[in-house]
Amino acid sequence: MQPRSNPSPAPLRVVIVGGGTAGWMCAAGLARLLPPTDYALTLIESDEIGTVGVGEATLPHIREFNAMLGLDEAEFMRATQGSFKLGIEFVGWDKPGGRYVHPFGSFGERWGGIDFQHHWLRARAAGQDVGDWFDHSFAVAMCREGVFDLPDEDLRSIRSTFSYAYHFDAGLYAEYLRRWATPRGVRRIEGKIVDIARNAESGLVESVALQSGAAIAGDLFIDCSGFRSLLLGQSMGVAWHDWSAWLPCDRAMAVPCAGAAGITPFTRSTAQAGGWTWRIPLQHRTGNGYVFSSSFCSEEQARETILGAIDGAPLADPRLLRFQAGRRARGWEGNVVAIGLSSGFLEPLESTSIFLIQAAVTDLANLMPLPGGGPPDPRLAAEFNRLFAIHYDRTRDFLVLHYTANARHGEPLWDHVRNMALPDSLAHKIALFRSSGRAPDYKLGLFSRDSWLAVLMGQGILPEAHDRLADRAPLDEVADRLAELRERIATNAAALPAHAEFIASYCSAA
Ligand code: FAD
Repeated sequence: MQPRSNPSPAPLRVVIVGGGTAGWMCAAGLARLLPPTDYALTLIESDEIGTVGVGEATLPHIREFNAMLGLDEAEFMRATQGSFKLGIEFVGWDKPGGRYVHPFGSFGERWGGIDFQHHWLRARAAGQDVGDWFDHSFAVAMCREGVFDLPDEDLRSIRSTFSYAYHFDAGLYAEYLRRWATPRGVRRIEGKIVDIARNAESGLVESVALQSGAAIAGDLFIDCSGFRSLLLGQSMGVAWHDWSAWLPCDRAMAVPCAGAAGITPFTRSTAQAGGWTWRIPLQHRTGNGYVFSSSFCSEEQARETILGAIDGAPLADPRLLRFQAGRRARGWEGNVVAIGLSSGFLEPLESTSIFLIQAAVTDLANLMPLPGGGPPDPRLAAEFNRLFAIHYDRTRDFLVLHYTANARHGEPLWDHVRNMALPDSLAHKIALFRSSGRAPDYKLGLFSRDSWLAVLMGQGILPEAHDRLADRAPLDEVADRLAELRERIATNAAALPAHAEFIASYCSAA
């Protein structure tokens, strides 16, 4: 007798609602990571509604995402009008006239088993000439010189001690991913969702109805509908955690302008009376905007400020966006997973939203329910939600740090954020650094120890003590080593090509 064949279950029907950066990153990521025989991917987007149309600066992690898809970097740069980003320059954040860079790279070198800052702090406390903290980062030196080259693969070279991200046109990136994903099995439907059908007993979403009358059924729905949060927020009613007590900015006025000569290899964030302005240089234009708090700045003031801050002719009228800082209590509920703005919002001070999308896509791919297994296992959702909370909460702490440690005395917004009660998790991190020089060092997600050191030091928080193990190194050797390092950094950075020159030659390569 023939053994009975065990028919493989029908593919799990995954419906992605929304075609902004979140929707297309999700579609492309899942198409790459999941076996097409087991998962049928459909993406619905509405031309009438469009996308949020901002979100142009990224973090180095995006390179892993692009590499996972197998994208060619030069082609990607051409397609998205991209430029390279070595970090963020913060102007006036610590105090009026102050300036520092949060670089994508390390500070100094670890030696004697001790993190670099302890050697620097110890020599400084002993009255040695230790230079400026930021002179010990190669990425900072590259920003100051306006130069760029790819990191050296030889780990002994100072030119290997940085990473980089991109500035790009977010609309062009979504189109690029769409062109990548659709030939790889993602079915795209254009149409506006007008209704969501849920099972009366289980509460699971069964289908979404389009204005055309079509109903799209699915087993798992990924809500990438932007601020509307159509499925997770509106339909499933998952609660919102409001963080505006810590991050009071709730508006942005965005305006692109003609590009200035010499594209800077960094994003600039400049503190203003009611918030801060951003400047993001692309190949074909510069993106600008003013993130502000409506409690401290009117829309008219914001418009005047941003138009006065741009360094090229405006290419459109300033556009107002409204938001509130916070996140959903859970990112995965039943058979709905929210990714992107539908899951939460943190102002773009450290360009974290696209990273949060990437992290959620990766976590979801790892936790994807199997086809034929019935409703999603709640344990998968619980694990996703644990990671979701870690990513959002750590990012929130890092952003709040920029605000709370400021010396902009006499300005109402800045006085308010300096004096507000902090999340306990952040208060602990600052107290630990002040008392011991130790900075957080996460193995998961954002941000590395060097990033925390950049912002802690940049905002003027100096530790009262250092690791006593650093005292074992002879003091004069430490000072010599620091001086030699600063010299090596400056000489190497000065020898690199100008950023604009590098982009032109890189993007013209076949
Ligand atoms: P959206 O772009 O809004 O896409 C939503 C999609 O859902 C669209 O395709 C829409 O058509 C579709 N949709 C909605 N409703 C329906 C419906 N009823 N039927 C069918 N389709 C529907 N992030 C960064 O990482 N770096 C930055 O520099 C940065 N800057 C920012 C500046 C500002 C002022 C703001 C507000 C955000 C910024 N972000 C930034 C965040 C970034 O813009 C978003 O994370 C990113 O664009 C993803 O958006 P999204 O895809 O979730 O939503």
